Amino acid sequence: MSLTRKSNTPQSSRSTSHLIGSLSRGLKAAVPTMDRRTFLKRSGVGVGAGIAASQLSFVQKAVAEPSKAMLDGKGKIEVKRSICTHCSVGCAVDATVENGVWVRQDPVFDSPINMGAHCAKGAALREHGHGDYRLRYPMKLVDGKYQRISWDQALTEITAQMKSIREKYSPDAMFFIGSSKHNNEQAYLLRKWVSFFGTNNTDHQARICHSTTVAGVANTWGYGAMTNSYNDMMNAKAALYIGSNAAEAHPVSMLMLLHAKENGCKVIVVDPRYTRTAAKSDQFIRIRSGTDIPFLFGMLYHIFKNGWEDKKYINDRVYGMEEIRKEVMEKWTPASVEEACGVPEAQVYQAAKTMAMNRPSTVVWCMGQTQHTIGNAIVRASCILQLALGNVGKSGGGTNIFRGHDNVQGATDVGPNPDSLPGYYGLAAGSWKHFATVWGVDYEWIKGRYAPDMMEKSGTTVSRWVDAVLEKNDMIDQQTNVKGLFFWGHAPNSQTRGLDMKRAMDKLDLLVVVDPYPSATAAMAAMPAAEGQKVNKNRNVYLLPAATQFETCGSATASNRSLQWREKVIDPLFESVPDHVIMQAFADRLGFGEELSKNYKMLNSKFAGKQWKEPQIEDILREINRSCWTIGYTGQTPERLKAHMRMVATFDPKTLKSRGGVDPVTGYDTTGDYYGLPWPCYGTAAIKHPGSPNLYDTSKSVMEGGGNFRANFGVEREGKSLLAEDGSYSKGSAITTGYPEFDHVLVKKLGWWDQLTDDEKKLAEGKNWKTDLSGGIQRVVMKNGCHPFGNAKARAIVWNFPDAIPIHREALYSTNAPMMRKYPTTADRKNFWRLPTLYKTLQDQNLNEKLYEKFPIILTSGRLVEYEGGGDETRSNPWLAELQQENFVEINPQAAADRGIKNWDYVWVKSPTGAKIKVRALVTERVDQGTAFVPFHFAGWWQGENIRKYYPEGAAPVVQGEAVNTATTYGYDMVTMMQETKTTMCQIEKFA
Ligand code: SF4
Repeated sequence: MSLTRKSNTPQSSRSTSHLIGSLSRGLKAAVPTMDRRTFLKRSGVGVGAGIAASQLSFVQKAVAEPSKAMLDGKGKIEVKRSICTHCSVGCAVDATVENGVWVRQDPVFDSPINMGAHCAKGAALREHGHGDYRLRYPMKLVDGKYQRISWDQALTEITAQMKSIREKYSPDAMFFIGSSKHNNEQAYLLRKWVSFFGTNNTDHQARICHSTTVAGVANTWGYGAMTNSYNDMMNAKAALYIGSNAAEAHPVSMLMLLHAKENGCKVIVVDPRYTRTAAKSDQFIRIRSGTDIPFLFGMLYHIFKNGWEDKKYINDRVYGMEEIRKEVMEKWTPASVEEACGVPEAQVYQAAKTMAMNRPSTVVWCMGQTQHTIGNAIVRASCILQLALGNVGKSGGGTNIFRGHDNVQGATDVGPNPDSLPGYYGLAAGSWKHFATVWGVDYEWIKGRYAPDMMEKSGTTVSRWVDAVLEKNDMIDQQTNVKGLFFWGHAPNSQTRGLDMKRAMDKLDLLVVVDPYPSATAAMAAMPAAEGQKVNKNRNVYLLPAATQFETCGSATASNRSLQWREKVIDPLFESVPDHVIMQAFADRLGFGEELSKNYKMLNSKFAGKQWKEPQIEDILREINRSCWTIGYTGQTPERLKAHMRMVATFDPKTLKSRGGVDPVTGYDTTGDYYGLPWPCYGTAAIKHPGSPNLYDTSKSVMEGGGNFRANFGVEREGKSLLAEDGSYSKGSAITTGYPEFDHVLVKKLGWWDQLTDDEKKLAEGKNWKTDLSGGIQRVVMKNGCHPFGNAKARAIVWNFPDAIPIHREALYSTNAPMMRKYPTTADRKNFWRLPTLYKTLQDQNLNEKLYEKFPIILTSGRLVEYEGGGDETRSNPWLAELQQENFVEINPQAAADRGIKNWDYVWVKSPTGAKIKVRALVTERVDQGTAFVPFHFAGWWQGENIRKYYPEGAAPVVQGEAVNTATTYGYDMVTMMQETKTTMCQIEKFA
């Protein structure tokens, strides 16, 4: 069932005729002498052969004429194994390639992750193999039109302007938005590349999807990631989805949930909207958007009141639960909970009882929890619920936090973050020295690339680059405003405050898009400025065609922390070039090419008709293996990952553990490994750590993938120990109580130093488990059954955050005045990630000007199953485009009737920013009268105008629509600068 009806609108017929047209054109161009029957016979394509033919045609147009061998039926046929690029579930796909042409795809039935399943997006992956709407060659905006230029011209001109900006202003006058779709190696290389340019002004999509999770969860118990796995959810006896619509956002993960349901798992869905996931629930609870803390603490109220908490677990493994209990019992009584989130006591009680009586129970969340000004506190409230129930570190329990893009987990782990180096190493001198050693460059040389005192200062975030351009210079904490920007695989429409973004784009000196698709950035940059505004007449805009992940190889980290290796399926189409090759080309011209790739074998590869220097992807992963000890990215060598991909059938879908099997290519024995060596996979590959399927699981020894909570916050606070209690340790530990993280001193004190080899001792002297490049400390500590990062209690109170105990605070643009007065936001902040940030000022304005009366409906946003992210790739896919042709707003029948709106009318959704978006009205009881929902994948309309004409010719997606984020408002998380997208306000009017 589609969420919107398939209409018979002109758009519909246009799409259909386009498909037919493409198909017939394609057949003619590709296989001129072969009829359909012959083609089927020779290519081996079965179901969907007609469409396959259309895809074949696109590649042929772009790359080559069919060879004689192919026409004779003797073409070279290969099957390449890859991973879906559309979400973090990580479904494997086998791509059949004939003479370089991607002719067929099959989901990998033996993959323990997808077991032969794909959702609509995964089933349409092959469209990447022809990409009729791709950006085909480098382009430059000249007099409002994109013109084709050569790669040489593009690289030369852009480099000159980067150098000029760097010299005239400072390295911090550039900002580089990286991608959550880069593979691990490219993401890592980009962070290194930006560092060598001399700035920390870099970030990526994770900032605006799960940065609050990463910060909140890591500060609670150690690592900021999903604790268990999609697969492990099969072991859950109850599952609470709060802020996740997995049925659309992570469709194949529902396989696991439905399997659990067959075994009696109770499913609770808490959401402002009745979603497709809610349709699978035993209990659906509608909350007011943004009130997760009152709800979660309301559950805790009943858990404490009835003595359902796990008292021994809390005593042994949790710090600060007593203070939480006090807060909950005093503040979050059933009456207060109902007042704040609108849920009656009986429903909250039922949810609490279900989670308590059916353990292990798990909690699932996504952006419904994270994208709020208090996102960091909301996710911690979820963690506290699970700690109270003793569910963390247990199979079937945990916090299953579903990431978004296919490699947003990996890009977060090792990629372009403004506040850390790869592996979450901070920006302090010690971290830089660690990486300088691994990179083989002089620390002082890197330091010299930065402006004075800027090397250890966190950069601006992607959520605020707009303000780094527009803000008054004396208000920002760097030498000058941002003048130049790279969108390197990032969709602008995934960010809030579209009108401000357009103004910022117009003000830049340099704007560069590197992407397989031109993205909405291209159209926004080419549009005229808004009335009363102007475009910087010296601005230059370039579009550079990047290869997709099917046109290169490398590893990607699924949400469950498993790494999977993608083989290259096809050569890059048109003039596109892989990202890491583009990075090297820029680095060579910027003068740090040699430093960038010191440790890599350099290939001489042909792209876009010429030879390029290509850093070998495997060598980049080997460098990650040598550097990222903190999170255990050290054991996942290219050889082990490739062996896992060949041996997928040996891994059990329920445990992810290999049942045993030897890779025939390398002789590598997978026995005991967990699929994809989910991080942490500690030590060097030689010690064969199996990966960690469920974090903090004391029932397994560390060398079996077990663990305990991390000692990352000291050993004592206010006279209380922060370490685990006596008797709480992971199986087989030589130390049967809590202990701090290991360094050379502790190893020596314990008498284990001589267990290191002489070579290890040389490198480990003076180091700790994170900086010892020999791996000797990790090896010896784990040999003694201990965890390198110590054994501590989780923190229910995060004293280094603004609200140590999670506090509910109303959104700045809440529609509920009494609740804003009762639960106000925080004070404005002057220098937060280099910028002033408003909280109280805007909420007061909302109250004083009664914006909540002018805009009385909560505007929230989310995903559709057919599209992904900003949507450019998927809306360029004719198969998917056919399924969702227009953007829409879900509006309650009563709210619609009050406004004279009928189903599928065009309406304006208006925002207090002055923006308005024109969308269809989907009249439905999925939302209540005070809430409206708009999917966030659309772009290509701008406040009622179709801006298709501003895309490069032939590169506009099949489907355009209004971006909801044109209308969304200001608001940023108090810790991470996550943007508020889930609770803002709007008015809806019939389009006239
Ligand atoms: Fe699997 Fe996600 Fe791709 Fe769908 S989009 S096939 S669930 S990886």
